[in-house]
Amino acid sequence: MNKKERTLVLLKPDAVQRNLVGEIVGRFERVGLKIVAMKLVLPTQEQALAHYKINPELPEKILNHLKVFLSASPVVAVVLEGNKAIPIVRKLIGSTEPLKSDIGTIRGDYTIDSYDLADKDGRAVRNLVHASASESDAEKEIKVWFASKELVNYKSVREKILYDVNLDNILE
Ligand code: ADP
Repeated sequence: MNKKERTLVLLKPDAVQRNLVGEIVGRFERVGLKIVAMKLVLPTQEQALAHYKINPELPEKILNHLKVFLSASPVVAVVLEGNKAIPIVRKLIGSTEPLKSDIGTIRGDYTIDSYDLADKDGRAVRNLVHASASESDAEKEIKVWFASKELVNYKSVREKILYDVNLDNILE
């Protein structure tokens, strides 16, 4: 029996404004992850802060930049489910700074920003996506964006070939 981990992904304002929502969500779908919740939201500054304050390591200055950035334009919030969803999604998005993220990752393929430019201009680095870093972060972050009734439990037809030991009925 596989463990169905859930992770919170935010497509940040740069992803929505650059019409990359379909492209990015498609990358999560094609790896086999299942969408269990998704919506377009214009976050308040309080909601943006509630989300980023879950990470106690972010300096106050970066927190402020993120608060301004996230509340400036809509984001798409998504909950994805699947085996090891948290590390799989982090692998797909690539490292935080676009300058360093590998080609083939979402940030590596679609962004061009760097810390030095972002810091010089006094803003958050534009790296398209946020994804939960751990199970405990995912649990808290999902609650910032979704009520529990908005998470939809359903069986996807793909799950049989992705995970099931018993393929007896697959030819019928
Ligand atoms: P990640 O989003 O990869 O989990 P962090 O949690 O460390 O990375 O940072 C949260 C967000 O803050 C990053 O995605 C990025 O947008 C922004 N950020 C982090 N460090 C910097 C920095 N030095 N300059 C500008 N923005 C930053």
